[in-house]
Amino acid sequence: MGKRVLIVEDEQAIVEILKFNLRKEGYETLEALDGRTGLELARTQDPDLVLLDVMLPEMNGFDVCGALRRGGSEVPIIMLTAREGEEDKVFGLETGADDYITKPFSMRELLARVKANIRRRTIDMGAQRSVISVGDLAVNIDSYGVTKRGAPVELTQKEYDLLRFLILSPGKVFSREELMENVWNYDYFGDMRTVDVTVRRLREKIEDD
Ligand code: CA
Repeated sequence: MGKRVLIVEDEQAIVEILKFNLRKEGYETLEALDGRTGLELARTQDPDLVLLDVMLPEMNGFDVCGALRRGGSEVPIIMLTAREGEEDKVFGLETGADDYITKPFSMRELLARVKANIRRRTIDMGAQRSVISVGDLAVNIDSYGVTKRGAPVELTQKEYDLLRFLILSPGKVFSREELMENVWNYDYFGDMRTVDVTVRRLREKIEDD
């Protein structure tokens, strides 16, 4: 089942373009044209992410965000801010938003952020099981400790991030680009050889041969 994105935005044209592009990427969408309806849908429909405009009728985006967090919701929230105003961004993050995008935004960037924020949330939820065992390896997500047949394995931060990412997506095969995007961050335009080298070092440390 596709991940569900709730769009809370009062400009119908922006709603339509977001809906079109998100659906094309395989997401399901829900829409609200005012803050109060947005809050209601976020509470009752359990979306995987909320795209939240700031200037909305009925209730503004900051208030919607604050109300969701006070109610204990941990849904990823990306604020859509109309102005370049630094206070808007800071205020949005203070009310509990995870990220913000300034209008007018590039669709490519918006989609990348949606994906990254949903991914981060999925990994955090997986991390609630604090020790994960795969074969001879045991990875403690809380303490960052890795052991192989009981003996500690020393990993660098990136090797650890990579291992954690891979074991939380069991059975999946990732391209270099996907690893770069998810382990090194979506906005890191680095050398793909970084991925190869880290994968190789990690394998040397955790595999028998
Ligand atoms: Ca608006």
